[in-house]
Amino acid sequence: MAGNKTFSMIKPNAVKSGHIGHILAHISDAGFRIVALKMTKLSVSQASAFYGIHEGKPFFNSLIEFMYSGPVVTMILEKENAVEEYRKLIGATNPQMAEEGTIRKLYGVDTQTNAVHGSDSDENAFIEANFFFSMRERFGVRGVEMLTDAITQL
Ligand code: ATP
Ligand code: MG
Repeated sequence: MAGNKTFSMIKPNAVKSGHIGHILAHISDAGFRIVALKMTKLSVSQASAFYGIHEGKPFFNSLIEFMYSGPVVTMILEKENAVEEYRKLIGATNPQMAEEGTIRKLYGVDTQTNAVHGSDSDENAFIEANFFFSMRERFGVRGVEMLTDAITQL
């Protein structure tokens, strides 16, 4: 069964262009609940780890440079079938190919500078959410307790 959470990031171009508010409104209006939210800036090593799957591809270095060129906004979103529903909402990787009304069509510039990231599987949503958010940020005191319990089992 598909999970109900996904991870998203507003990329540096959309933050710089002043679109944070528009994009968050778009996400809420589409029925997603924003369950965690953070503005941060990636280091080179964090950007490389986040997009590690693309290492070796011709666009990798340029992608990493873009991803640490300015602040990003990261979030965990909740909705039934969240991963698939959110990928539909953001549209194709290349904004020119994205459907009308999608976030990338509205705020993306080109294939690299495409305004938002969305997880491509439940497993990656879990990994990416944990990359940016602590257990306390995700689950409050219960999260700290879960982590403490797990560590004391080691
Ligand atoms: P994301 O993972 O950011 O949600 P995606 O899943 O639609 O995007 P991926 O194939 O995972 O697409 O690529 C990751 C990111 O790398 C893209 O969003 C884009 O910023 C960049 N990228 C992908 N392909 C290219 C390309 N051919 N040229 C330049 N940049 C690219
Ligand atoms: Mg991807």
